Amino acid sequence: MRKIVCDLHAELVRNNLVAWTAGNVSGRIPGADLFVIKPSGVSYDELTPEHMVVCDLDGNLVEGEHAPSSDTAAHAYVYRNLPEVGGVVHTHSTYASAWASRDEPIPCVLTAMADEFGGEIPVGPFALIGDDSIGQGVVETLKGHRSPAVLMRNHGVFTIGKDPRAAVKAAVMCEDVARTVHVARQLGEPLPIPQADIDRLYDRYQNVYGQRSPR
Ligand SMILES: [Zn+2]
Repeated sequence: MRKIVCDLHAELVRNNLVAWTAGNVSGRIPGADLFVIKPSGVSYDELTPEHMVVCDLDGNLVEGEHAPSSDTAAHAYVYRNLPEVGGVVHTHSTYASAWASRDEPIPCVLTAMADEFGGEIPVGPFALIGDDSIGQGVVETLKGHRSPAVLMRNHGVFTIGKDPRAAVKAAVMCEDVARTVHVARQLGEPLPIPQADIDRLYDRYQNVYGQRSPR
């Protein structure tokens, strides 16, 4: 898991989701109440699997020579409260954070959004770093929501997935649709997709699409 989480940080860089060290990936260790997360303040090109730190679900350091990411409490809160989640990503990616700064959900106006997010990408509450507030806001917003991404108001993006790779994919797709819908807005008002079509697209993509598909 250290290697998986370390390697996925390169995807944040490759996809232009992060500036300096502002973004992190974590992954739950299957079968244990532990997760692996990026160390605080280490630049992405210096990260190695050995740098990754292991924390318990209260965010306490269990193993590692570095201090865990300053966002560790938020990741820990998500793992504690959403047992099906195996990966969490946080970024300040540009377009998604621009939507977050205006407290506006990204409307579902693209079939790719219906596929991946099953509707709009919601905005979570304003919350300060330092305690469980950010984690609470992420969980409250995403619990019972199809979207694996939440725009935390005035802050940035948190995504969840069954594993860290799925959470990174959601972060990449979130930024992609945030950019496209922003561009669409410059040209006029994008058309909403009817809910019944969103439901059909979401169901097909989640259950049929991909290598396991018999079609
Ligand atoms: Zn942040």
